[in-house]
Amino acid sequence: MKNRSENSTGRGQILSILQVNSYSIDQKSGEIWTGQADLQPISFKSDRLLDMSKVCLYVSDVLGAYGFPGGHPFGTDRQQAFWRETVRQGLDRKVSLCEGGIATRTELERFHTPRYLDRVRMLSDTGLGFIDGGDTPAFVGVYEAAAAVVGAALAGLARVMTNGANEANDAHDCARTFQPIGGLHHARRDAAAGFCVFNDIGIVIETLRAQHRVKRIAYIDIDVHHGDGVFYSYQDDPDLIFADIHEDGHYLYPGTGGADETGRGKAKGTKLNIPLRPGAGDKEFFAAWEKAEALLTKYKPEFFLFQCGADSLAGDPLAHLNYSEATHAHAARRLRILADRYAGGRIMGFGGGGYNRKNIAEAWNAVLAEFITTSA
Ligand SMILES: [Zn+2]
Repeated sequence: MKNRSENSTGRGQILSILQVNSYSIDQKSGEIWTGQADLQPISFKSDRLLDMSKVCLYVSDVLGAYGFPGGHPFGTDRQQAFWRETVRQGLDRKVSLCEGGIATRTELERFHTPRYLDRVRMLSDTGLGFIDGGDTPAFVGVYEAAAAVVGAALAGLARVMTNGANEANDAHDCARTFQPIGGLHHARRDAAAGFCVFNDIGIVIETLRAQHRVKRIAYIDIDVHHGDGVFYSYQDDPDLIFADIHEDGHYLYPGTGGADETGRGKAKGTKLNIPLRPGAGDKEFFAAWEKAEALLTKYKPEFFLFQCGADSLAGDPLAHLNYSEATHAHAARRLRILADRYAGGRIMGFGGGGYNRKNIAEAWNAVLAEFITTSA
């Protein structure tokens, strides 16, 4: 395996998300990069059908600006790829459309080191070079764009915590959020990685604990890549219940997430990593999902965070799993039900990765549709 090194856990790590083996490059066409570039954007406005939607959807021009230039697979057209389909399906009329602000330095410091934030600040001013080893290029304004992803997540969290457990189904009752541009699960406390600058998930976890006294939190990740930035930040934390189904790290970035990584010390057993072989599809996912659900049922989390990367669907240019969007619909439906059972309905969904625009549209809207549904 080229471009591998040993990380601090001694486990082989693949350092680049873009330098995948030739298997994926040769088999997939390049047209997914620019498939929607010529289409006119659709504005983030809607005539709402429901005034009492339980779902807040975070989409905005500011959020859409989180993406990298020059034909990068994580381009700025991803949010529109999702939103175009949201409107086509009429789901935009069944949610509350929301916008967040830009996260402050203090908020970012709940997870990230001051030194790292200084470095991103500097690279954002110059727009030169890479923030990590070569996957995540700097551009002018990248700090603000990344802080907007966190700002939306924190705004969503505030709404869910204010209203989610509210018995009265008033006009602002929002128990679930979905944020297509978010779930940046590779970012570490002191480093960017794999297109992820600030780890919005980590900042939400820290905020839940510091400000809302919510301790036992579930993080479920079905992105094709292992959520290493979340896993290694909380592998000693017995109250962070972690379930991650991903392509086996022997074949894919970041190279981690082996089945033997179940948490350390007091946290042993609170983490579940399920690597799947290249080519695995819905059948393998559904079998793995039962294990994830058993973990959640055992620990009964008070809050659910769901990273539903669309890069695990068949035809993603950076990976080799073969799911259909039925996997994402199933996971979202089951998590909605479990969140209703254990967590006062509180769940936040994040789009994560996904580089085939059609898959983004289908997988993320499948999740949104399940969040909108209120019956079991
Ligand atoms: Zn991914």
